[in-house]
Amino acid sequence: MLAERHAMVERQLRARGIVDERVLAAMERVPRELFVPPELHGRAYADAALPIGEGQTISQPYMVARICEELGLHGTERVLDVGAGSGYQAAVLAELAGEVHSIERIAALADHARELLDAAGYGDRVHVHVGDGSRGLPEHAPFAAIAVAAAAPNLPEALYEQLEMRGRLVVPVGNRWEQLLQVVVRTPEGPAVLRTVPCRFVPLIGAEGFDGR
Ligand code: SAH
Repeated sequence: MLAERHAMVERQLRARGIVDERVLAAMERVPRELFVPPELHGRAYADAALPIGEGQTISQPYMVARICEELGLHGTERVLDVGAGSGYQAAVLAELAGEVHSIERIAALADHARELLDAAGYGDRVHVHVGDGSRGLPEHAPFAAIAVAAAAPNLPEALYEQLEMRGRLVVPVGNRWEQLLQVVVRTPEGPAVLRTVPCRFVPLIGAEGFDGR
């Protein structure tokens, strides 16, 4: 698995332009195979999102790395991860920041993610919550960085409001089938928005997301 993980970092990340050495090192350290269902262990380092149950997916490694790189973390930040899913992105964020709050709307996934994060040794730095992450997590705000792993129809206002000044929010914005990964920086003049790569995430379901039908 170590060799496969190394190949993933070189071929899927470095070769595609991920340059932040801290992000590359974090992706090299987190055992992705722990976060995919046992029957898919053989595909843990595939260049793809994989099903994790409940109709949800663990994101493609490149998208995890890209989101982390856009957040520009240094090591001490408090971060919000919206859409815990398997817990994998939260584990990578824990390698890069000081404290991670990860929120998931499906309780069964949140419980499983918490177990996996504990087993992988991230339990002390990652707090998994159950709820509608499109509303953020006001009791733990403000955040230096917010990562959203599900597609939103618009820039979620509540999340922007929970950023520190100069804090960064990375969120896929578009329709249910295709989105652009947006990087939003909180400034005194209002949101500075940068549209980056096309992507396809599962929908964010909630108050500032899509409806659940
Ligand atoms: N970061 C995850 C990716 C999971 S896919 C990983 O690394 O595995 C996105 C997740 O967002 C799904 O588990 C889905 O249930 C969750 N989700 C969708 N809408 C949500 C919302 N409003 N609040 C919290 N989680 C949400």
